[in-house]
Amino acid sequence: MCIFCKMAKGEITPKTVLEDDEVLAFHDISPQAPVHVLVIPKRHVESLAAAEPADQALLGKLLWTAREVAQKLGLDAGYRTVLNSGAEAGQSVFHLHLHVLGGRAMAWPPG
Ligand code: 5GP
Ligand code: ZN
Repeated sequence: MCIFCKMAKGEITPKTVLEDDEVLAFHDISPQAPVHVLVIPKRHVESLAAAEPADQALLGKLLWTAREVAQKLGLDAGYRTVLNSGAEAGQSVFHLHLHVLGGRAMAWPPG
């Protein structure tokens, strides 16, 4: 079972921000900004590229959860969402996750 599935099933306990029956949001172990939260579906989906038409509502839920995380953590000045799909994009955990980054100014483009 992948590490994010273990979190979804409660076998590993992350620093949880939000949770419901479909999604889990928790603090990244190696934060790249003062706030760095990952939002995952509890069901294993490997990547955005591997998602299927039936996953469309779940994909929307991830984005909505990112918005809730930002509100809960007071990211009123702004925040960035990032979704790496595939090795070349930098995906290192092959369980779909949306990064929520905030708490500092961030350059665009990211390089
Ligand atoms: P990716 O590079 O796949 O887009 O992002 C994976 C993210 O998962 C990285 O930011 C990494 O720090 C985070 N991560 C990897 N393993 C763990 C873990 O065991 N716990 C937490 N909280 N984050 C993790
Ligand atoms: Zn998984």
